[in-house]
Parts: sequence; C-alpha cells; structure tokens
Amino acid sequence: MKPDMIMIRFGEYMVKGRNRRQFENRIEEQIKRVLLPYPGTSISKAFGRLYITLHNEQYEPIADQLKLIFGIHSFSPVKFTINDLESIRAAALEIMFEMPHKPDTFKVSVRRVEKEFPHETFEMNHLVGSHILRAIPNLKVNVKEPEVELRVEIQPEGTYVFHEMVQGAGGYPYGTNGKAMLLLSGGIDSPVAGYLSMRQGLEIEAVHFHSYPFTSDKAKEKVIELAKRLSHFSGVPIKLHLVSFTDIQTAIAQSNRESLIITLMRRSMLRIAERLAEKYRALGLVTGDSLGQVASQTLSSMNVIGNDIHIPLLRPLITMDKNEIIRIAKQIGTYNTSILPYEDCCTLFVPKSPSTNPNLKIVERVEASIQGLDDMIHTAVASAEVIELTPDVLSEAQSAGNEDWF
Ligand code: ATP
Ligand code: MG
Repeated sequence: MKPDMIMIRFGEYMVKGRNRRQFENRIEEQIKRVLLPYPGTSISKAFGRLYITLHNEQYEPIADQLKLIFGIHSFSPVKFTINDLESIRAAALEIMFEMPHKPDTFKVSVRRVEKEFPHETFEMNHLVGSHILRAIPNLKVNVKEPEVELRVEIQPEGTYVFHEMVQGAGGYPYGTNGKAMLLLSGGIDSPVAGYLSMRQGLEIEAVHFHSYPFTSDKAKEKVIELAKRLSHFSGVPIKLHLVSFTDIQTAIAQSNRESLIITLMRRSMLRIAERLAEKYRALGLVTGDSLGQVASQTLSSMNVIGNDIHIPLLRPLITMDKNEIIRIAKQIGTYNTSILPYEDCCTLFVPKSPSTNPNLKIVERVEASIQGLDDMIHTAVASAEVIELTPDVLSEAQSAGNEDWF
C-alpha cells in the first residue's frame, strides 16, 4: 500500500490524563525529530491523535522510527480522500489491490464522525463492501473473523481509509514522569531495566562504576555503546556518569570478609548513585536486579543492600525471568553488546561463596571498620566523569530490532 498519511494514536491516558497537553507536545517533538530527514512531510493534530502527511516521502523508514517512540499506542498507514462516495470507494479498492497477500475474507467498518455525510454508517458499509466484492471475484465477507478489516473513518476534514494497525512502543512519553539515575553495568539486565523505565516516562542519567586500570578501556566502550543505544529511545542525549570505584573496591576487598564483598560493594554503589541523584536532581535509582538471580539479589540481600537509601529504588526486572529479559534485550538491540566478554568491576574480586543472607549489623560493623570509606565515596562522586551520548544517524536506530514489539 502506498499511503498518503500516517494516523498516530496516543495511549488512553493521553485523552483523559491531566498532563495530556504536555504529553502530546513531547510526542510531537519526538515525531518532528524523526521527520527531520524527510522535509516533504508535515504534521497536523487532532484530539488524542496526530497525522503525518507524507507528500511522496517513503512510509517504511518513518514507520520504523515511530515504533521506537514512547507514548505512541499504535499507528496506521492511511489513504486520505475527500468526503465523496466514489472517492472513498476508489481508495478502498486501491488498498485491497495493493495488499501483498490477497485475503480470502474481509469486512468494512465505517465510522461516520461527520454527520453531514449523506450516507448512514450501515449503508456505507454496504456501499463500500459491495463495490469491493464486485471488483475482486473470490473475495468473501466475514463479519466475525475477517482476514482484513477495512476501516473507513469519515471526519469533517476528509475520509481516512486503512486496514493496518501497527503496535507502537506504548508507555509514556520520555521524561514526563520525572528523572532517575540508572545503574548501568555492562551486563544484560541493566540496559533492559533502563529501557523499561524510560518507556514508563522516566528520564534517566546512567551511572557506571569502573575499576580502571583493572578494568579496560574496552569495558568502558561497551557501557558507552549501551548508553548510546538507550539514547535512541529517548531521542535526546543521555548523560553517562563514569565513576571510579577502584579505591573503594580495593578497600572493601582488604576488609577480609570475602562473603560480604558484593554486599558491601553494592551498598557503596547505591550510596554514590544516591548522591549523584541529589546533585543532578533525580528522585530515584533504577537497577537491573531480578529476584533470586544471583546472591546479591535475594530478598534478604536486597534488604541489606538498599537499607541506607532514602529515595525510591526502582527494579523494573524484579519479577522477570532471565529468558524474558534476554528477549527484550534482543529486541532493543543491547544484547549483542552486553554479551561481549569484557570484565566488569564486580567480576574482578568475585568471592567463591557470596552471602545470600547477609546480616545487617555485621555489614554495618565491617563498613565502619573500613578507614576513609565516606571520604572515598565523596571523592568518587566529586570526580565522576560525565559524557553525553547522542543517538547516531537515524538509520542505526532502525536496526534495533525487527521482531514485533511487545
Ligand atoms: P547480568 O546480566 O550480568 O546480571 P547485571 O547488570 O544485572 O548484569 P548484576 O551483577 O546482576 O549485573 O548487578 C545487579 C545490578 O547492579 C545491575 O543490574 C546494575 O543496575 C547494578 N550494577 C552492577 N554492577 C554495576 C556497575 N559496574 N556499574 C553500575 N551499576 C552496576
Ligand atoms: Mg543481573
């Protein structure tokens, strides 16, 4: 089908919510950015919807980009025509002829918003349907389960004819639900946690802990690549804070409490991230924790690790199993980077048997015995390097995933 326009539908909340205007404006900004390389296109707005007029620009590459924008519920390539029976019939027939797979059954669903239109809804279903049946010999009507539902929407400005409903990314427009710091490791989980929180409207700034020179430049590049991938979904640059964890990690390792090393490291990471959140006015922390996945993610461990944190600790993956997380990682295009084998700071001193049930009192005592820990945390926050990552050329975002979006 060669559409004239794209009809874009926002989520339900858009229509009802108190922030509708702010949400719509944010989505419109995103759409405008996507349309930059297509100067022939133009945008028009209607209640709870937005239309792109293509003016001979290609539909497919634009559609690939629209699938990435949070807050878009669904969209359809449409033919647009004047409110005239013969024009509507012609558009409907063109759509049927342009289908790559010829259906055996169909039905017509008319929505008549323009009440001045001379034919009633029921009559229009018949007038358009019979025209198609006459032109395509073996086609049949099936009202209950048609292979193709041809929709005809008669609005005051003209009629939209379409059949495809492309599912959008859903969620809330990026940055409309506040800001949080994402603890971004080089693993599979945390980029997925970042994606899901961004989809829920959170603006994120990423924080990564490295133990340079024990961890290499390659490990750093990997995290930069992951943050960059996430910036394809925000549509605006994402900040990545690179925090040196070497001194803290070394001090923790020297405390000679092997089974508590991970617990202690995670506590310090969260403290640093909390201070960075305060510094950059973020109101929460996001991690890729998933219940029971590793020793540090038992409920008991998480209780001790998060015990000192005073802002919300968000864990979007908490009840997901690994396969589900991997599926999303592949879809958003982070998986292949995540599985590159460069070392993470936490894999350097991995204890043989990390505690799954750490004792808070003991952990606090060991922490108190580490000399200068507070100063090191302070230094880590103060000396964090900040880089800003911008999405690459738009075509790269298209390779994020070819599977259906969930
Ligand atoms: P994996 O797929 O290997 O499980 P992960 O990212 O989940 O990767 P974990 O060791 O399970 O790694 O760590 C749990 C969470 O702690 C991570 O999801 C991440 O949010 C945070 N984290 C761990 N290491 C780092 C790090 N080096 N920098 C920033 N955050 C980290
Ligand atoms: Mg994990």
